Amino acid sequence: MIKLTKRQAEILEIVKQSGPITGQQIAEKLSLTRAALRPDLAILTMAGNLDARPRVGYFFNHNYEVKLQAEKFLHQKVNDYKAHPIVVEKSTSVYDAIVQLFLEDVGTLYAVDVNGYLAGVISRKDLLRAAIGNRDLNDLPVSVIMTRMPNIITIFPEETLLEAAKKMIHNHIDSLPVVKEMDTEKHTYLIVGRITKTTITRAYLEIMEQKTV
Ligand code: ADP
Repeated sequence: MIKLTKRQAEILEIVKQSGPITGQQIAEKLSLTRAALRPDLAILTMAGNLDARPRVGYFFNHNYEVKLQAEKFLHQKVNDYKAHPIVVEKSTSVYDAIVQLFLEDVGTLYAVDVNGYLAGVISRKDLLRAAIGNRDLNDLPVSVIMTRMPNIITIFPEETLLEAAKKMIHNHIDSLPVVKEMDTEKHTYLIVGRITKTTITRAYLEIMEQKTV
């Protein structure tokens, strides 16, 4: 991705508004000579921002802009998009977990052990499965029904949204706890956020709506 100079950005804006437009017409709009513009037009055409057609003029390359935005999206860091995680102790009852799920308006809760480390994931389906059993949901701790460590798929803050999207799709899950590793050997993690399929969709929309020029 090239960093545009002020003049190159001006040229792009003109072509975007008025293209197809000739080099001479662009020069007139900027009160410059055609020769003075030539290097900038060459750079913008080579970089792919502009398309040039003989005897017609310069066009704005919308595909290039979309490609830049898509690349930008893929390199965004989890840390900049992570949402607040909703955490319960693993001794919490399934009943209380269901209440939490509604109160916080989330699809997944994370369970922690007495040290505050990630112990489990409790999704909507886990809670529904428990609810159609015959047990009293007040007496059933979430630790019995949750997906436990070491089977939890996690993501680190410095990883990208692309990596998060891959992990969710390949593992058929809706969310990932964003974690900091406390002890490599014991696999203990602190939960610092969560990434969901909604997070990815929101980031995509935000970036696609941004203007590169
Ligand atoms: P839902 O149950 O609402 O469809 P998911 O598709 O996320 O939500 O969950 C499906 C199953 O995968 C559940 O049993 C849940 O405990 C488990 N699960 C969810 N997230 C993770 C994760 N990050 N790592 C491992 N298992 C997970």
